[in-house]
Amino acid sequence: MKAIQENCGVFALCSRYQCAGEIFQGIDFLQHRGQQYCGISTYDGTIHHETHRGKAVNTFTEEELERLKGRWGIGHVSLQDRQPLRWLTQIGEISVAVSGNVINSHELLREMMIRGKSFLEGTDVEIISKIIIEAPDIVSGISNLARKVRGAYSLVVLSKDGIYAARDIFGFRPLILGHDEEGTRFAASSESRALQNLDMQVYRDVNPGEVVLINDEGFRTVAQLESPRRAHCAFEWAYTASMDSIIEGVYVQEARDNLGESLAQRDIDEGGITADIVAPVPMSGIGHALGYHKRSKINYQEVFLYNRYADRSYTQATQSDRDKMAKRKLSILPYVKGKRIVLCDDSIVRGTQIRYKVMDLKNAGAKEVHVRVACPPLMYPCEFGISTRSYGELLARSFMRNGNIVNMDQLRSLEAWVADRVGADSVKFNTIEDFVASLMTERCNLCLTCFDGVSPYPPNFPG
Ligand code: SF4
Repeated sequence: MKAIQENCGVFALCSRYQCAGEIFQGIDFLQHRGQQYCGISTYDGTIHHETHRGKAVNTFTEEELERLKGRWGIGHVSLQDRQPLRWLTQIGEISVAVSGNVINSHELLREMMIRGKSFLEGTDVEIISKIIIEAPDIVSGISNLARKVRGAYSLVVLSKDGIYAARDIFGFRPLILGHDEEGTRFAASSESRALQNLDMQVYRDVNPGEVVLINDEGFRTVAQLESPRRAHCAFEWAYTASMDSIIEGVYVQEARDNLGESLAQRDIDEGGITADIVAPVPMSGIGHALGYHKRSKINYQEVFLYNRYADRSYTQATQSDRDKMAKRKLSILPYVKGKRIVLCDDSIVRGTQIRYKVMDLKNAGAKEVHVRVACPPLMYPCEFGISTRSYGELLARSFMRNGNIVNMDQLRSLEAWVADRVGADSVKFNTIEDFVASLMTERCNLCLTCFDGVSPYPPNFPG
């Protein structure tokens, strides 16, 4: 997949033991959320701090982890910037890590600079940190974000009190709490897989607008801001999150399975499809292809061999770099010769990647390639900075210039046009209704803006 532009993950741990090693492992388990930068801060009366360009496993040394003393700490992985950021403030020494995007950053920067504030680079984490630091205490500072920031964020703040973990009032980005059975470790993570793989059990998701203090006693809600509604990013289940994670009580694997089954059911309902194999576009199409296989009974077979030593395409800085990396990371299995293939992917943004894959399969001798897409057509940019930023990047939008798909005839026309553009024998998307049903979450609790254009923000929301 190719849409996600700016992504990241946070991990926080309060432990009875030195924590740096486990924070390192925590961010390693979140590395799929961003591979350009990583960082760790720990606290033992003062904050120790280290950030790197690159993946945690390639950049952190044992000596550095040894120097990161303390039982409490936070970590970050990012596509965009170095975090955490450490600050010396009137409320004490703190370190801040944010997973998210500030949409009204220009307005906030201008307003704060007029008031005499200065910034190193004006990144989102700097803006968020300065809003927190301006307040008399950390909880008030985090609460002030809800009034000022337009965007999507989950964050962790390391301080002398422990670690504050918070989510924006809509809960766009995931943040989940977990602990071990003995009560010796309490953690917060962008995804549950980091908890599970460190032998901790999931406790619960942080609520939208909730601020939780994590310390040696466990979890304590220190603020619960009013939330106008929930708006969990639907893309997390379809693409961003790892398949072994659970978000808002829904297994990512089960959601992807449902999305694939739903595509297969549509094919069955519309007269069936004759194919030899169903195959995923690795890695994010795997769950969808397994679901399609389960419902259709068509054999599941990999057709691309994933080069695990190539970086995930969306973590490259430019589109050209992403395209090159995408090409490098998959090789075709010669087995495809003469086969009729159902090829499952998570979404189509520009259509460039899927066109290359269809072309590669046909060049390798595939007889037919039918593309099945888990997400509905992407019609709108993501105003929360998570996915595409402009209409011009959206293939489906260039066909449906005047707005939403309102019936199946329109959807079929779009699918035929996309099939022609990407060189496939057919293309089908999930409808928004089938997509929502597959996520097993009430539509009113999801953000679906990039599919239906409906913003979860109430009128007159800040920014
Ligand atoms: S617009 Fe799309 S990518 Fe952005 S938060 Fe909403 S569902 Fe997620």
